[in-house]
Amino acid sequence: MINKKMLALGQKRSAIRELFEFGRKRKAEIGAENVFDFSIGNPSVPAPEKVTQVMKELLETVDPVQLHGYTSAQGDASVRAAIAAAEEERSGQPVSPDLIYMTCGAAASLTVSLHALVNPGDEVIVLAPYFPEYRVFAEKAGALLVEVPCLPDTFQIDFDALAAAISPRTKALILNSPNNPTGAVIPAADLARLGDLLREKEADCDGEIYLICDEPYRALVYGDVEVPYVPAFYERTLVCYSYSKALSLPGERIGYILVPPTMPNAAEIYAAVCGAGRALGFVCAPALMQYAVAKCGNLTANLSVYEENRRILSEGLADIGYTFTAPDGAFYLFVKALEEDAAAFCEKAKDFELLLVPSDSFGVKGYLRISYCVSTQQIQRALPAFRALYESYQKEN
Ligand code: PLP
Repeated sequence: MINKKMLALGQKRSAIRELFEFGRKRKAEIGAENVFDFSIGNPSVPAPEKVTQVMKELLETVDPVQLHGYTSAQGDASVRAAIAAAEEERSGQPVSPDLIYMTCGAAASLTVSLHALVNPGDEVIVLAPYFPEYRVFAEKAGALLVEVPCLPDTFQIDFDALAAAISPRTKALILNSPNNPTGAVIPAADLARLGDLLREKEADCDGEIYLICDEPYRALVYGDVEVPYVPAFYERTLVCYSYSKALSLPGERIGYILVPPTMPNAAEIYAAVCGAGRALGFVCAPALMQYAVAKCGNLTANLSVYEENRRILSEGLADIGYTFTAPDGAFYLFVKALEEDAAAFCEKAKDFELLLVPSDSFGVKGYLRISYCVSTQQIQRALPAFRALYESYQKEN
């Protein structure tokens, strides 16, 4: 008998992917312009021109045998040095190239980190709402996923709930800021409080609790919002980064794990990261992309489009009567559904050709996620459909 868990995972797509595939079919039936697909977080702006230039230059000037050859399992040394320098500049904190592990994006960063830390039966805490794949990744690593709800409305950390959920079996907490699906950014004051809480609980439980920071949206913030460098607040932090969103390169599968030198037993943790990468077959992230991000990692795609989309969508939906908390980062709007059953609401939205993700798989009920990494025209053209959907509920009541 083959592995039943893997079979089940392969046979049933995630709610997001399911909707995305539905959208593909629907677009073929009635034309792409008639479907308002807000299902997936696929960046809608191209990568910066410099990325193309750098890749062309690499292809034209570097010996192809070297360019396309294996790098070290943990990534090319010069690439890791460039990333360490960029991280050091950003954070003002020490970063070592020898503690950076190149990965195939945030998904790989997360699975590798979890496998490096977790022993079977350990608990991994996630703050709900959370990216649904966390459950898949944590359970594959042998952990039990523990959901802790965030504060209602602000979607910030509920410290009382978190304190109550931490047990002697807690091995890690996954933190995602800016957040998918709420766009919430955790401020420095809360990170300081979190650091204090985790240190206190570690002392109580006589164990180690790690913070796994999933940061693919780090560069996507609005106004004067800043994303603090989390290891400055808590020593046992692993940073999982990806260029998927900031550089608009999700299909190229490139990112990294950073183990801060301030982490106790940093060398041992890094060795476990390398071991997990080896065990999972995540060695030598795509070489061409490694060299490209080493030269372009400090750039971002033109993110002003998301800012404009966020404004038009927020104003338009608020004007109709929908309620939500303005996101400080990422490119998602998390909106209250107009009935208790978010899945039923999103099914109904399909009648208006609106593809919205119900919140159930994010670990909370009663909301829907709108990915606004789409063309601005799509948002403008979808607003009448959102109005018609809203009015259909007014009629019912
Ligand atoms: N973490 C979060 C919160 C995400 O939203 C995503 C992708 O949408 C990922 C991780 C995976 O990112 P990557 O494409 O870099 O693997």
